[in-house]
Amino acid sequence: MESKNTADQAFVREMNLSSVLRLIFNEAPLSRAQLATKTGLNKSTISSLVEDLLDRQLIHETGINSAGTGRPATLIEINPKAGCIVGVELGVDFVAAVVTDFMGSILWRKQVGADPAAAQEKTLDQTLALVQEALVACRDVNLPILGLGLATPGTVDLNDGVLIFAPNLHWHNIPLRKIFSEPTGLKVFVENDANAAAVAEHLFGTARRLKDFIFVFAGIGLGGGLFLNGQLYRGKNGYAGEIGHSPFAMADSLLTPCHCGNRGCWETYANQYSIIQRVHARLEVKRSSVIPALMAEQNAPLSISLIKLAADSGDQEAIDSFAEAGAAMGRGFAGLVNIFNPEKVIMGGPLSVAGDYLLPSLKQTVSKHSLPEIVQEVEVGLSAFGRDASLIGAAAIVVDDVLANPTLVERR
Ligand SMILES: [Zn+2]
Repeated sequence: MESKNTADQAFVREMNLSSVLRLIFNEAPLSRAQLATKTGLNKSTISSLVEDLLDRQLIHETGINSAGTGRPATLIEINPKAGCIVGVELGVDFVAAVVTDFMGSILWRKQVGADPAAAQEKTLDQTLALVQEALVACRDVNLPILGLGLATPGTVDLNDGVLIFAPNLHWHNIPLRKIFSEPTGLKVFVENDANAAAVAEHLFGTARRLKDFIFVFAGIGLGGGLFLNGQLYRGKNGYAGEIGHSPFAMADSLLTPCHCGNRGCWETYANQYSIIQRVHARLEVKRSSVIPALMAEQNAPLSISLIKLAADSGDQEAIDSFAEAGAAMGRGFAGLVNIFNPEKVIMGGPLSVAGDYLLPSLKQTVSKHSLPEIVQEVEVGLSAFGRDASLIGAAAIVVDDVLANPTLVERR
């Protein structure tokens, strides 16, 4: 019995440590008295928990609050130098790595192009080389490493850290945790890119303190991070949020094939490729546009950045192509709004660079196709991190684990 009681006490203490740490993370600077009021725990318990977190260097004292009539109180906040984190995003056509502090500020970053047609081994070797560079950067900033987070497209087995299936990479069953923990000795977390981005938005971005929001990662595919009732919604097997593969079109449109093997998925009408296709179709009917001249000048194929450049110069074909894709995005967003009644829907990832051109038609479509009483409460906007949403997300999942399990922190 006694050992069970001890285990219960340890569990309660870990829960209390975590909730105090999260409170400080979300609302600092706070005094011990404020922490006691907000948690309902007594002052001596709070003092002991705060001491523990101070010893672990996860928080620090930051000056005195002498405002008001009460006794001046020492304020507490998160220690950004609690450690550094390596975040890695496996994109479809790039690999990026970042080193952040405990508050998500970027200390170092690097991105390299990756060939989607290349062998898995090649891309994984490229990624590992990038991680080794990030580890050197961590040593340069002289902070212990709290862990390595990997954000990947596709479905992920969180417990084993295995990428189950990424349609746009054509990758199956890749044991990413094993591949990255063995050579680095780090604690490795693997998460779906949109889920990781949702965690970043919640911890560091535009969804701080929101309990219900949806993150849409828009790029080569469309992925969803469903943050519901204060946490990520994962579904039975952890694969929830594959919104891009919602069956979208009927009849003729069924002809649009998707990388998942199906036809007519939502993302095929609203992803990067769909925008490029829209522009191609317009150019084929010889509409007047600066795009062919830009392609010749840059000696480059049609890309989102080139179409964005054309739109910035006032090119109507570019602007209209974005607007059409924005409307196609909006139909899917409207579905999400009607189903989940979120406070906010946030778009991030590569396509968010064209947010100014996508959002007007997107929002208009959401208004048109969502129920009035739901849509009037919802905000649709861009991620605080733009195309880096999942990269910062990769670091955020490590921070989130520290917040959840402060006594299990490993520093390397
Ligand atoms: Zn699909």
